[in-house]
Amino acid sequence: MAAALLEVDGVTLRYAGERGLVTATERVSFSITEGERLVLLGPSGCGKSSLLKAIGGYLAPAEGEIRLRGRRVSEPGPDRMMVFQEFDQLLPWKTVRGNVQFALQASGRATAVAAAQRADAAIAKVQLGAFANAYPHELSGGMKQRVAIARGMAMEPDILLMDEPFAALDAMTRTAMQDELLQLWQDTRFTVVFVTHSIQEAIRVGSRILLLSPHPGRLKAEVNSDGVDRRLEDGRLLSEMIHLSLFATAAATSIES
Ligand code: ADP
Ligand code: MG
Repeated sequence: MAAALLEVDGVTLRYAGERGLVTATERVSFSITEGERLVLLGPSGCGKSSLLKAIGGYLAPAEGEIRLRGRRVSEPGPDRMMVFQEFDQLLPWKTVRGNVQFALQASGRATAVAAAQRADAAIAKVQLGAFANAYPHELSGGMKQRVAIARGMAMEPDILLMDEPFAALDAMTRTAMQDELLQLWQDTRFTVVFVTHSIQEAIRVGSRILLLSPHPGRLKAEVNSDGVDRRLEDGRLLSEMIHLSLFATAAATSIES
């Protein structure tokens, strides 16, 4: 088996809330190998964003640890780039090219000339070549998300972290963006952790799906979804199975007790 690129090892995440500690996830463990498209799937509030933030180095585990290439993650770094749901993650006063280039230069990963070249290549990959000089307010929601993806990809991170990046898009744009992401993956085989609460999206995007139970998030099941087309019978069966395991908790608990 290939060595793990990222290991999430017994990770408990807590927040200090007004009424005491909130446990977002409890002892979650999984690992990712290079080139995987791992999806974290679960209902709202189960700790998906918290897990992604912890992998990003923005939230320290209360228990357990996260390792990237065997080294403990303790802070954010250009080896882990994040794409969020919100359309306002771009700098409004910079053009498309400026936004992508800025991240590269700020990280010290490239000189100005190299950054410009890499930015243009990434912008072309997400089909925005004609909009390199446009400003965020001139773009649709889907286009802004493509810029955010280009910005992340241009950094050539070890892992791209995507937190419901298409959730705010209309259904048709969302499906198109899922296809584009897969196309991009075919071209470059990056490693991605993709968070969603949509079963359809999980099946469409993921090569492996981790199901998280609601609050506090625990790992419930793991599904290999590599090569499954959600539009075909296979995909429908998988979708039903995931639905059952995600929503069977309440019934199972009441039978046990
Ligand atoms: P998801 O992304 O799956 O919807 P989150 O990771 O955002 O879930 O949240 C998991 C749990 O942690 C929720 O109960 C949420 O209310 C809580 N939580 C998230 N962020 C904070 C915060 N900054 N302060 C306190 N509690 C938080
Ligand atoms: Mg979230």
